[in-house]
Amino acid sequence: MHPDDFPKRFRDKRSDKTNLVATWQGEEMLKGELTDTFAIIFRTRGCSWSYRSGCTMCGYHTDTNPRIEIGDLERQLEEARSRYDGEDIVKIYTSGSFLDPNEVPPDLATSILSSFDSKLTVVETRPQYVSPEVLDTMTDQVDQLEIAIGLESANDFVLEHCINKGFKFSDYKKAREIVFEANARLRTYLLLKPPFLTEQEAIDDLIYSIGSVSHPMNTISINPVNVQRYSPLELLWKRKLYRPPWLWSLLDVIDKTDKEMVISRAGLGSFRGAHNCGECDSNIVEAINNFTKDNSILEEISNCGCKDKWRAYKELEPYMYFRGTLEILSDRYTGYL
Ligand SMILES: [Zn+2]
Repeated sequence: MHPDDFPKRFRDKRSDKTNLVATWQGEEMLKGELTDTFAIIFRTRGCSWSYRSGCTMCGYHTDTNPRIEIGDLERQLEEARSRYDGEDIVKIYTSGSFLDPNEVPPDLATSILSSFDSKLTVVETRPQYVSPEVLDTMTDQVDQLEIAIGLESANDFVLEHCINKGFKFSDYKKAREIVFEANARLRTYLLLKPPFLTEQEAIDDLIYSIGSVSHPMNTISINPVNVQRYSPLELLWKRKLYRPPWLWSLLDVIDKTDKEMVISRAGLGSFRGAHNCGECDSNIVEAINNFTKDNSILEEISNCGCKDKWRAYKELEPYMYFRGTLEILSDRYTGYL
């Protein structure tokens, strides 16, 4: 099944809004110190890949507007400036690629970067927009630049067939070389449990991917899947063909890798995000939050009866998919799956 085969209503819900999507303040480790962060999501025309095809787990097109104008983006920048309170880390996102000139015109990108007085500035992009020329201009505007790339997995089969990512691991590696050449830092987002992988396959894939991208100048950020509205994955989830990862799986990965990493908290402990039985979730999420803050070893987490269920689930999951598939076959959505 190709994401283009999903009903259009599940993959395109763009808006006509012209304002910022969001800004928020937080904390993150920088050179061993807990540092204040300011994150911005600009509402742009959105990811070019989402117009052509799109990733299976992505619902960010709901935060974009195909008719956005440069004046709107300039107003969003003014608004973001007014909310900025001198934080040392500024993270700039669009629901696409900051380095895509069709999304953020280069002159505007330059003024955005020079607007904040931060020690570290993070911008996110797909790897094909990373070039020495673009990075040279950008590194001039900021103290330290960090290029964030949503790689998701270092396995080309997973990238192509599970995520429909539209690029290969080798594209990421090319971009990584250019980033390091420009003396910029890298941030790599990896996904826990892409669609169409079992729980155990997803754990193995993430551990393999962490090992493949590890580098002193690379911040590894783990995104446990959070089922986004109007993503193709939401359709699978609603048809009971997908369960978000267990928190036990996340702990398993943290336990088996000794790398420094950031864990995204989006949706943790919720029905659409990584969750366990509902009883033990809040304690584990709190432990994960503390882990993200100081990177210390996770405190001993009291065991819950659902850990045995998780083990059983990992063994039974392939058969559960089969059962779900049978349900689908007798359903009017047959044509889409
Ligand atoms: Zn539990």
